[in-house]
Order: sequence, then structure tokens, then C-alpha cells
Amino acid sequence: MIRFGRLCYERHLLVAMDGNLSALLSDGTVLCTKAGCHKGFLVDDDLLVVDRQGRKLRGQGAPTSELLMHLACYDERADIRAVVHAHPPMSIAFTIAGVSMARCVLPEVVLTLGAVPTVEYATTGTLTLADKIRPYVRDHDAILMDRHGAVCLGTSLLDAFCKLETMEHTAFITKSARDLGSVKELPPEEAVKLRSMGLKRYGGPPVAVARADEPGAGLPEACLSCSGCSHPSPSGVAPRAELKMARVVSQPLRSPEMEDRLVAAVLRSLGPS
Ligand SMILES: [Zn+2]
Repeated sequence: MIRFGRLCYERHLLVAMDGNLSALLSDGTVLCTKAGCHKGFLVDDDLLVVDRQGRKLRGQGAPTSELLMHLACYDERADIRAVVHAHPPMSIAFTIAGVSMARCVLPEVVLTLGAVPTVEYATTGTLTLADKIRPYVRDHDAILMDRHGAVCLGTSLLDAFCKLETMEHTAFITKSARDLGSVKELPPEEAVKLRSMGLKRYGGPPVAVARADEPGAGLPEACLSCSGCSHPSPSGVAPRAELKMARVVSQPLRSPEMEDRLVAAVLRSLGPS
């Protein structure tokens, strides 16, 4: 856990006192980071053991303020043994801009991770936030919390960390593509095929694996009719984010009528000849 805290910091996935990590121990208790410690410089004394109700069993100081969120993950998913919560900057920027990461862009990511949904905003460290992430955690191993950060679940700390790293790497690639032009999604049929293959080959949330042969194959509803950057689905874009980012698209004008209007506007701006 000390090593993965340092990796999160060195990979720019959190700064200062951000983030928290936990792992399920063999007796069913939870090892977690304590509140107010720098994850890049963790020492043994920064780790505590708590029970599944969050009561401290061993260690000094208070457990992380976001412990409820970790406990909700273990409650919902009997198959996971580690949770990493961090504040990956590019992924968080997507939520602030209201740009969905529940999109099928990179085949490898669809195959291994699936789409990354965004959970509606709630105050950090509250039971409300912990309850809001529950339904998402059942279907996904990596989720984003609006304006806050990422929660990644895994069968080990390495597994959870890999999902976090993949999410941020995807955000970086998607942002770069947006800067260069437009983002081309995979055709929905191909996304469904890849996700189905991935669930069978690499596993994933048991609920999603069970649906591997059904249409949709563990992708959020929004992904089956993807409309790009400003999809208004709660499982994609944070729904109340007002800001819509301009999309640079190099495609011909859609209709002759639009073209006429544009020509008329240009002529008007040139003034009377
Ligand atoms: Zn946080």
C-alpha cells in the first residue's frame, strides 16, 4: 500500500493529502490509509485497520474521511480486495467540463475496463456520496465522481492501480485527440463486441460478466447510442454541468439551406457593395 501510494503521487494521480487506499485483509477487516497523510510519503504508522462498520481496530489517528466510500465498495462487491481513490487531474477535468468518459474510443480500454461512468456530485466523505456510488460500483471497476476524483476497484492493489492509470491515460489521449480535431468513437456494435470479449477473457464486475452474452454486454445504456462529447446521460456526462465544450469537427456543412444562410451572413458582414 505504501508503494502504491507513492506510485499514485509519482504518476500525478494525486497531490498533497489527496486520495486514499484500502485493501481487504484475510480476516475480513480493512487496511486503510489514515486521514491527513501524504500518499507519496506513506510510512507504516499511516496505515490503520478498521472493521466493516468503519470502527478502528488498530493504528493511531483517524481513518481516511472517505472510508464510507471504500466500505460501500466492499459491501457491493464480494469479488474485490482493494480500492484506490485518487484525484487524476485530466479525468477530473472531463467531469468539470461536462465531457463524458463513458465513451468507447480505445479498443484496448473497452476490452479491459469498459466505459467509465460519472457519478453525480455529492459532498466528499458523506454517506450520500457513498450511497450514490453503490449502483455504479456493481457494474463498473472504475468510476469518476463529478468534480472530485476516481474510485477504482480490483482483486489486488496492483489491479485497482492499473485501472486508475488506464483511466487517466485514456483521458489524456482523448483530450489530445480533441485538441487535434474530433474524437471518433468506435462503432457501437464493435464496442459491444469488444466488451463482451473482454468480460469473458479478463472478467469484471460479476453482474456485467453475467450479461456478457446479452446485447449491451456491460456497457452503460448511453454507450449504445453514443452521440459524442456532450451526451446528456447521467451514466456519462455530469447531467447538470451547464458548460458544453465546442467540438472541432472537419466535416462538410450538413444542408444546402445552412450553406445559404452562411453565405448570406458573410455577404451581410461585407456590407453593401
Ligand atoms: Zn477525494
